[in-house]
Amino acid sequence: MTKKDSLTRYSEITVKNKREIVLLRGTGCKWRRCTFCDYHLDFHLDPDSNFALNRNVLKQVTGKYGKLEVINSGSFVDLDEQTVRLILQTCIEKQILEIHFECHWMHRDAVPALRKTFEAHGIRVKLKIGVETFDAPYREQVLCKGIDEQSPAKIAACFDEVCLLFGFDGQTEESMRYDIETGLANFERVCINIMVENTTKIKPDASVIDIFMRTLYPVYAGNERIDILLNNTDFGVG
Ligand code: SF4
Repeated sequence: MTKKDSLTRYSEITVKNKREIVLLRGTGCKWRRCTFCDYHLDFHLDPDSNFALNRNVLKQVTGKYGKLEVINSGSFVDLDEQTVRLILQTCIEKQILEIHFECHWMHRDAVPALRKTFEAHGIRVKLKIGVETFDAPYREQVLCKGIDEQSPAKIAACFDEVCLLFGFDGQTEESMRYDIETGLANFERVCINIMVENTTKIKPDASVIDIFMRTLYPVYAGNERIDILLNNTDFGVG
């Protein structure tokens, strides 16, 4: 359960794919094994308490961009039913025609029903998966992502957008370029996160981040299909 009750939970992304974004709270990531992650600490086991918090956050949504991204330090399946209903109602009332959710690979079978629920009201659903790298052995043996599929195309079959994570020991200009290009070839959008120090034992490698900033950032920063978060609060929430 989180001790952080002062998180910023509403923001606007005013560049590229303009959208509002909310950081909601669910019952917590059910995978929870990624070696680099402590985001999953933002959860509460009581759905009523989560709904009370989420209702206040969703009140701030205006619909000004017609697009809304919902994140919840886990997957959409961790949100309670009342919250999902209120997200749908908010989209309908605020004329939001595109909604983004995040989802771990283990919950991919729940995606079609979510799409159906929103698409029945004319709302496009975009699912984002954290893959971090398409180097499957590294991803599974070092990062412990829990994606038992190597093929980028097969991973992309259920998802629209991919998150990559750079700044790990062993990543190179070539490996990061391959990850970005593979993401662009298989997904509609790519979100690059730069590893920042957190409470886990996995520490960012400054030399890898330096390589990214010198060689790849200038190439991809202007790409409309790529978001780059140098800090994990760059979307304004967290
Ligand atoms: S799936 Fe996401 S929230 Fe869960 S442990 Fe991995 S990175 Fe963290």
